[in-house]
Amino acid sequence: MNYEADEDRYNGRMNYKRCGRSGLKLPEISLGFWHNFGDMDDLTESRAIMHRAFDAGITHFDFANNYGPPPGSAEKNAGEILKQDFSAHRDELIISSKAGYLMWDGPYGEWGSRKYMLSSLDQSLARLQMDYVDIFYHHRPDPDTPLEESMGALTTAVNRGKALYAGISNYPAELALEAISLLKEMGTPCVIHQARYSLLDRWIEDGLTDVLTDEGVGCIAFSPLAQGMLTDRYLDGIPEGSRADKEHGFLQKTQVEQQMSKIILLNKIAKQRGESLAAMALAWTLYHPAVTSTLVGASSVAQLDKNLAALNSPAFSDDELVEIDSILKG
Ligand code: NDP
Repeated sequence: MNYEADEDRYNGRMNYKRCGRSGLKLPEISLGFWHNFGDMDDLTESRAIMHRAFDAGITHFDFANNYGPPPGSAEKNAGEILKQDFSAHRDELIISSKAGYLMWDGPYGEWGSRKYMLSSLDQSLARLQMDYVDIFYHHRPDPDTPLEESMGALTTAVNRGKALYAGISNYPAELALEAISLLKEMGTPCVIHQARYSLLDRWIEDGLTDVLTDEGVGCIAFSPLAQGMLTDRYLDGIPEGSRADKEHGFLQKTQVEQQMSKIILLNKIAKQRGESLAAMALAWTLYHPAVTSTLVGASSVAQLDKNLAALNSPAFSDDELVEIDSILKG
């Protein structure tokens, strides 16, 4: 299939926001490849999602070594599509990858040693068929490896030209500050922190966003739809083929059931605002001044289109924010 990118892709609704105090700008909505691009997925739809995203101004695609399933297959499959359809646009794209979770057997297949992180990056680059990624993240803190070693590995990746920027993910506030300080000393400033953030999980507001704002580090919110719970996906039960229905999905049916009363109330507010719950939930993450971009997943082009509607979301009134807070507090 020949893909011709939409010539109007930068004249639409997408805003590009500066990532902390760095020179890097990210689209307010970015696309994640955790699910929907693995060997078990319909790659025709996956390809169409990538086309639609880029046509809508989404210039940031987020990967990790372990995305699939099986682990690695998202980078491999999307890497092939990127090569076939996007090679003329490499300089318009911010491609990220990460290392931290289990990838291969033995003592060097996960966590944060220099050995693991740099080997993993080489493997990611081979799967993606690229010379470099734009952002390389340490995916999760390692309680046993000295932080200097993990941050040193990020610095080496940048110094070798295999990554343009360094990032951290899932680091709690205090450790994030230590990592950010170390990276600064090493001459490789941390540009971004990738953290879970949604109406149903506000942990970053408890210290982390203050650190990131003070230090001039951007924040990209992952699972902003709480893996689909903050959409109409589960309003009438658990549909076949949904993430909560899949064996390999990370969303448990019990999680959906536990959150359903809140989801129903939030959906009512979204309706009053004249939009879908998905659009409201995404706009709400972007309302936080520390958030640079909100990182969505989509299993179809139709879902992605619904999520892009967040760019037209009306501003939140004080009353709406108070009502939302009271729903979230239960
Ligand atoms: P979301 O919270 O956006 O959930 C995405 C899922 O929700 C979709 O796959 C789909 O699931 C459903 N969905 C999305 N849009 C709609 C819609 N409009 N209507 C109905 N259902 C919808 O994000 P993810 O949990 O997928 O995470 C996004 C990205 O964040 C990942 O791809 C990854 O890049 C990153 N991430 C990073 C982590 C880290 O540790 N750093 C951890 C997790 C994610 P369905 O299959 O049911 O259709």
